[in-house]
Amino acid sequence: MDNKKTILIVEDDKYIIHFLSMSFKEEAYAFQVAGTVKEAVSLFYANRPDLVILDLGLPDGDGMEVIHSIREIADTPVIVVSARQEEEEKIHALDAGADDYVTKPFYMGELLARIRAALRKAEIYPQEKASCFEQGDLLVDYEKRRVEVGGTEVHLTPIEYKILSLLIANRGKVLTHHYILKEIWGYAEGVEAGTLRVFMATLRRKIEKNPSDPQHIITEVGVGYRFK
Ligand code: CA
Repeated sequence: MDNKKTILIVEDDKYIIHFLSMSFKEEAYAFQVAGTVKEAVSLFYANRPDLVILDLGLPDGDGMEVIHSIREIADTPVIVVSARQEEEEKIHALDAGADDYVTKPFYMGELLARIRAALRKAEIYPQEKASCFEQGDLLVDYEKRRVEVGGTEVHLTPIEYKILSLLIANRGKVLTHHYILKEIWGYAEGVEAGTLRVFMATLRRKIEKNPSDPQHIITEVGVGYRFK
């Protein structure tokens, strides 16, 4: 009967913890609070929550360490909620495997919408496919979440993997920037088209022999991307 989603709040600001706790109670989410990197990692490993809300500035270290530890064992959605404004920080966090990024101060309604979107994605993606996809030198093993190029394993971040899977699932079709952003992040507003370009560039560096003459992911100028 109890199918409540559990959220791990990683935050050291008492005011924000209070604010988040109140809202999560109202939304009927179960939650736990960790105030340090150490606590966050041990609570995550012990309880495997459904989603993590993560502050980057923690008393004993950087929230990025938490992302790395989580990604070693799970694809659990991580939403970074941080006061850090720099674009670089955002890209680092997303690249390390965070699913989304919200800048403080934020509206609770917006954060809740992003939580719902992230939880929805997490439910859709894992059971979506079976077996393998193979084309040319590219091999994607969906069961093992393993990607090989020319027989050598390449390591994709969770977002890169999602983008690649989405493109393959729709191969031959042109996917617009807007569509990809919505499918991957759950919404298109607030995600910069430039962010998607960054992910495409790193993905191509990993799976294309010659990224400037891509054989798999084709750019449709001004529209989006297509998997050949
Ligand atoms: Ca903090």
